[in-house]
Amino acid sequence: MTSLRAVKGMNDVLPEEMPRWHFVERTYAETMRRHGYREVRTPYVEPTGLFVRTVGETTDIVEKEMYSFVYQGEELTLRPEGTAGAARAYVEHSVHGREGISRWYYVGPMFRGERPQRGRYRQFYQLGAEIFGDAGPGCDAEMIDMLVGFLRELGIGDAEVLVNSIGGSDTRERFKQALVQYLEPRKAKLTADSQRRLGTNPLRILDSKAEEDQAAIAEAPTVLEFLAPEDRAHFDKLEAFLKALGTPYRVEPRLVRGLDYYTRTLFEIKGAKAKLGAGDTLLGGGRYDNMVGDLGGGSVPALGFAAGLERLLIASEASPPPSAPPVYVAALGDAACSAALVLARDLRKSGLSAEGDARGGSLKSQLRRANTLGARFALVVGESELARGVVQAKDLGAHAQEEVSRDRVHEWITARMTSPEGSAS
Ligand code: ATP
Ligand code: MG
Repeated sequence: MTSLRAVKGMNDVLPEEMPRWHFVERTYAETMRRHGYREVRTPYVEPTGLFVRTVGETTDIVEKEMYSFVYQGEELTLRPEGTAGAARAYVEHSVHGREGISRWYYVGPMFRGERPQRGRYRQFYQLGAEIFGDAGPGCDAEMIDMLVGFLRELGIGDAEVLVNSIGGSDTRERFKQALVQYLEPRKAKLTADSQRRLGTNPLRILDSKAEEDQAAIAEAPTVLEFLAPEDRAHFDKLEAFLKALGTPYRVEPRLVRGLDYYTRTLFEIKGAKAKLGAGDTLLGGGRYDNMVGDLGGGSVPALGFAAGLERLLIASEASPPPSAPPVYVAALGDAACSAALVLARDLRKSGLSAEGDARGGSLKSQLRRANTLGARFALVVGESELARGVVQAKDLGAHAQEEVSRDRVHEWITARMTSPEGSAS
């Protein structure tokens, strides 16, 4: 039989790695709560047409990276990103009719058929957020500032914030023309992909990671030179708010990002190259003022971002707080086995983590198990303890042992738990 392994580019996260994941997820949920976002969960599978319409037919994601399939006649895709599904749900449930401004967040897996490497996988996790219904640059600035604070809480200090504006449709049309005019005479120097995109989606060339393309666009005109007055005013206000908030940032006029749906504000936060290599973009986001309208939900401006959870974990220097070790209940003799199960159950009811061993092994083997569990306390119940309503309570950290009455065990443990290991007698 051939051995069955995980799908290429898709990773197992084993229990010992989970505390760091939980730390990031908890920190994120807490950040979201303080900023008034509520969690939304949308399906992992969406109609393929949703991504073609929003992310864009001629983007890398839609052209090359989607897991698409036909199931019972329906064209479906494993979601490559979270914004399109959130916007679809927002429109489908007429949320705008019920509340003027909605702040939503999500955490979950995304799927893209990319070449796997460090920080780049085929199933990866994103945490992201969307604001629907707020057109002003104030919420753009607030989101960027919030993300800087979030990264600091994760112990990611060396992050760099890049901002740009790609304007509305007027700005983009005029910029596209200028870009094509500039690149047309240099066409031969571009990659085949970019040559094709010169005719279909010239802005995507600016997001190319290929060296030939990078060289050809180094001196190309930048979108900021073409901003229409309203787009310019939005961008100026964004900068003023960022300055007022004291948020460190740099204007990067070449930033375009890889999705077609953005309008006006764009941003990206990069982490240390030394740690992250080529996948040094921790998160990206921006405005997408036309998406809700394009999906039939009327004119509702919107803003969002998404961060790669695995990349945050690579960059993070924070260690999660240790969780309380379990209490281990050992049983000596058949009759004590039931008592161990009952005692462990009662300790759990009062909030402790406990494991009762009813396998009936030797004390030595049971204490070995307590050790591998990382238990600080072991409670030993034998025939004589059972008869007298007591347990032998061991504080394994302090190498101390005491006979404790059955109904005082919880009290004994909590008293010792709050005193540092080894200090209690
Ligand atoms: P990159 O330029 O690194 O390809 P992107 O522009 O495709 O990123 P987005 O689509 O904006 O990124 O996704 C937002 C974030 O999700 C990225 O900044 C990154 O942290 C993470 N991300 C994107 N693709 C992957 C992937 N294949 N594996 C792991 N994380 C990813
Ligand atoms: Mg990408």
